Amino acid sequence: MLTIDLSQQSQDILSDRHLQKVTDVMLKAKKTIVVTGAGISCSSGIPDFRSADGLYNLVKKQYPDTVLKGKDLFDANLFRDCKTTAVFYTFISELHAQTLKAKPTPTHHFIKMLSERGKLLRCYTQNIDCLEEELGMDTSLVCDKGKVKKDVNVVQLHGSLRRLKCTLCSEPYGFQTDYQKVFKEGDAPGCPKCELYDGIRVAQGKRKVATGTLRPDIVLYNENHPFGDAIGKIQSSDLSRSPDVLLVMGTSLKVHGLRLLVRKAAKIVHGNKKGCVILVNKTPVVGKEWAGVFDYFVEGETDGWCSIVENAIRQVKVQTKLLFKPLTPAQADAQAHMAKATTEETAAGEKETEKEKEKGVAKEKSVLKKMSEKKTVEKRAGEKKTAVTKRTLTRSTAVAEKTVVKRKRVQDKENQLPLAFTKKQKATTATRALAAMKI
Ligand SMILES: [Zn+2]
Repeated sequence: MLTIDLSQQSQDILSDRHLQKVTDVMLKAKKTIVVTGAGISCSSGIPDFRSADGLYNLVKKQYPDTVLKGKDLFDANLFRDCKTTAVFYTFISELHAQTLKAKPTPTHHFIKMLSERGKLLRCYTQNIDCLEEELGMDTSLVCDKGKVKKDVNVVQLHGSLRRLKCTLCSEPYGFQTDYQKVFKEGDAPGCPKCELYDGIRVAQGKRKVATGTLRPDIVLYNENHPFGDAIGKIQSSDLSRSPDVLLVMGTSLKVHGLRLLVRKAAKIVHGNKKGCVILVNKTPVVGKEWAGVFDYFVEGETDGWCSIVENAIRQVKVQTKLLFKPLTPAQADAQAHMAKATTEETAAGEKETEKEKEKGVAKEKSVLKKMSEKKTVEKRAGEKKTAVTKRTLTRSTAVAEKTVVKRKRVQDKENQLPLAFTKKQKATTATRALAAMKI
């Protein structure tokens, strides 16, 4: 189990990394089972009845001799004594008045947001304050015909403080102001249905029958839940739907039934490859039975963590909205106009580019042609030069050969002249003779 201490946020890198991971889990969650306790209502204005300045202080002045606090205020055994029963009714009256003034907390809003985003499979709460109803969430477990409602958002494991019921006929009633006044005095109002039935009988001359009284429709310790079977069915249904996240908030899991639900749900969530089990609470849960149950323990107030995750989820939603927000007709026209203009510009640009390409190719061709022509000219010039050189050489050779022949003839002529001639006379005479012969 990884612990994330919210008081160390932005100070502990490792803790921040785990916080990001657990936020990512909630971003991807599709079927979350949420389990909540008193801790999620701490900031709503409802005093913690376990603390020193809790609700018990409100009844202590009225009943200075009767000590009843903490868990005892919610134990069915208090009905055994008329004094403790009176304390209980006064206490319930005060608690009800407090819940009417209370406002849903950021944690309640977070659960509502999960429901709206289709991420909530079900919320199971130990709380009886009904603050989820203030946000419009459905808490009615059974419909009028007594059948289990499969689409109920919040299952109230310990009942509701906003409903009353008859101790005899179980007729349900709202917690009206008149009834609250009676409870405040330590009494219980009579059941209108039972009293009406009895009144009719008496009017008919029949014997009187027993009538019931009203009590809060909450489940006390050592009492069976009147809708225990319905809750069992809905739990089985939820667990068979492969939940991917189990989120436990604001409870130290001290109630036996809730401990069983959490352990069973955690096992099924862990059977899901990407399943994750998260505990968000001020204090950790203690005991060997919790080994391996939780993947993350977020230590701190539930409101703080819920605000962080809700912001992250809403951020994603805003981005998605920006990407896929439907256009108004005027915006659609403007967009179509711009798209057309862009297409035309692109086509023109392509045409221009094509022309430029063609121009470039033509220019290139022209340059190549010129180069080729130049080469041809140079080649021809080279060939001409070679030919001229060759002719010159031929001529030179011919002249040289002629000269050699001429010299040889002059020599031969000289040899034919008388020996008395000097060498110079011989050469001159021979040349003249040959010239006369046009050789
Ligand atoms: Zn009744």
